[in-house]
Formats: sequence, structure tokens, C-alpha cells
Amino acid sequence: MAAPRLEIDLNKIYYNTHELVTRLAKHDILVTGITKATLGSSEIANTMMQAGVKTLGDSRIENIKAMGLAEKDVLMRDIPMMLIRSPMLSQIKQVVRYADMSFNTEIEVIKKLSSEAEKQGCIHQILLMVELGDLREGIMPEDLIETVREVLRLPNIYLKGIGTNLACRSGASPDNTNMSTLSKLADSIDATFDLTLEIVSGGNSANLQWALSDIETDTGRINNLRLGEAILLGCETLQRRPIDGLHTNAITLVAEVIESKYKSSVPLGNIAETAFGKSPSVINHGTVKQTILAIGIQDIDPSGLQAPAGLKILAASSDHLLVESAKENLFIGQEITFQINYSALLRAMTSPFVSKVFTQIGAKS
Ligand SMILES: *Cc1c(COP(=O)(O)O)cnc(C)c1O
Repeated sequence: MAAPRLEIDLNKIYYNTHELVTRLAKHDILVTGITKATLGSSEIANTMMQAGVKTLGDSRIENIKAMGLAEKDVLMRDIPMMLIRSPMLSQIKQVVRYADMSFNTEIEVIKKLSSEAEKQGCIHQILLMVELGDLREGIMPEDLIETVREVLRLPNIYLKGIGTNLACRSGASPDNTNMSTLSKLADSIDATFDLTLEIVSGGNSANLQWALSDIETDTGRINNLRLGEAILLGCETLQRRPIDGLHTNAITLVAEVIESKYKSSVPLGNIAETAFGKSPSVINHGTVKQTILAIGIQDIDPSGLQAPAGLKILAASSDHLLVESAKENLFIGQEITFQINYSALLRAMTSPFVSKVFTQIGAKS
């Protein structure tokens, strides 16, 4: 089989999605499946849909376009596609054409969406993102009502809801305080403009602890969460702990051995910088069984790999991953399977050198 490769078990992705959809349904929260870490994989999008997500979201319009085209092949039922990053002015045309909805924070952009939607003869839905402490995207809460007032005047724009994003840039955690602020903002928009916001999107995988730790938690107006990592890797994202009952190995990485030798544990000669800057400090522990795998920084984030027992990751350069084996030497051509984190997944998914091998739903893994 081709190497390196990501082995993606769609049964496990289905199971993770279905579990989260079911658990959140008890709080009347719907799930948007986020595909951005998978380069908009239509297999994964399709699996999330079958498992009950009501909308799909991605940060790149290119991914949304590709998924939309793939959809037509397999006759997936119509599912709304959300662009979850603020549109670039240079991509307004594609955004209106390929996304049903986009997340926005700048009135200048929304005005352009409005005139483009008029041109294309369609309604573009938007969700306004609110800044609640993580200091990434978001309208300041005190400016929200004024922004809504301007939005409501724009033709061919439909205000679908509001949302926030936490724990991405700064690690600001979702809690009862910021979530009830979001609920209150939704209430005050409804009251001021005599409407009912359909979506109040509380956040991402980092919101699961808040939403699910206690069935008594008052989730207020929050009726949507956007989930990527929790579905794909089975973990929450505040402490990166596995979520009870979910698969943490739905996606694994396989790489192939191309050199296996006994080498010194410390380099020889005068030590200067490496290919990527600083040389690592190493402790001399004699001769070691050192193996090279044919994968590198171009394909993965080496710090996001977890080697199997008995193997230790030593270093990586563009195309080489170095591991030390505690027991027997690995053989040439041997395949090694790694667990991966989000950052390794993101890079592997977007590397054309890494094959993606899917176990289809229903098939034995
Ligand atoms: C990436 C992203 C998500 C999904 O985050 P996960 O941690 O993968 O669940 C949700 N919303 C926005 C705006 C994002 O950028």
C-alpha cells in the first residue's frame, strides 16, 4: 500500500459524530461538522452528514466548492454549507456562489456580499461573530446592535444568527458567564428588532466540557456547536483529554522505514545550526538503533506524532523522520503507525505526498 498514508476509519468518524450529535441533542444543540482539518474531504463530510450533523462548515471557500461538486456525484441530500472564516473581499463572488452562509465581522464585507448576492439573484445568509474574550475574530458586544441595524437594511442578506469562537487564539474557555452573555445578546437583538435569530452558535470542540459535563447545565439560547477536532480525534480541546466513549484513533498515520542502522546518540565534529535552526541538545547514551522514516516536516508536525511503545522520535527534517528503537532494529520497508494530534493531522491532510486511505462505513477496519 502507498506510504506515507493516513488511514481514516469512517466507521469511527461516524460513531464519534453520532455520539456527539446524540449527547448534544439532549440540550437542543445541533452540530455543524467542521471539515477544515481534512482539506474538505467529501468522504468525511458525507460520513458526518449520515451521522446527523445538520450543517457543514469549513474555513476555506475552495474546500466548500470542492465538497459541493463532490456532493452532486453521490446525490447527498442538500445540506447548508457555512464558510466559518470571514470572507476575503477578493473572494466575495465564490463565497456567494458556493457557500449558503458565511460568518462575518465587518460591515464592509457584508455590503459587498449583499451587492454580489443581488447580482447573482440569491439570498446570502450570514452569522455575525461576537468577540467574547479569545481575541480572534468578532464584533465587540457593545457594537453588535448597531451592526445588526445596518445588516437588516441590506438587500439579499439574511441574518441567520450570531456566534462566538473561544479557546483558539488565547485559550479563553467557554463557561456559563461568556455563554450566557451570548444568549443575552441574542435576546436583545430579538427584542430590539422584533425577530428570532435561528442560530446561536456557542463555539467549537472546546465547548463540549461546558455543554456536556452536567445535564443540568443551562445552555440558554445556544443551539449550535461547530465540531471538528472532537469528531476526528475524539478529544476535547481545553486539556486534550479523550472524550468518554469516543474513538481517539479514527485517523492514524503510517510511514515507511528507509534506513536502519546503529549510530552514535551524539553528533560528531563541530556542531552548528541544523536545517531548521537550533541544534537540539542530546545526551550521550552510546550507540543506538536509529531508523529513518520517509516522511518529514513537509508532511507532518513531528511534535504532534505519538510513536508506538519502544520507539522514540528523535528529530525531523523536511523529508526524514528519525526514530530510536529501544528493542530490535526495524527493517527496511517496515511500516510504523503513529497516533496524531490536530496539527499533525492538518499538515498530513494537506500534503499531496500523504495518501488518504478510507475504511468505508460498514467495512471491517
Ligand atoms: C476551526 C473552527 C471550528 C472548529 O474547531 P474544532 O476545535 O476543530 O472543533 C469552529 N469554529 C470556527 C470559527 C473555527 O475556526
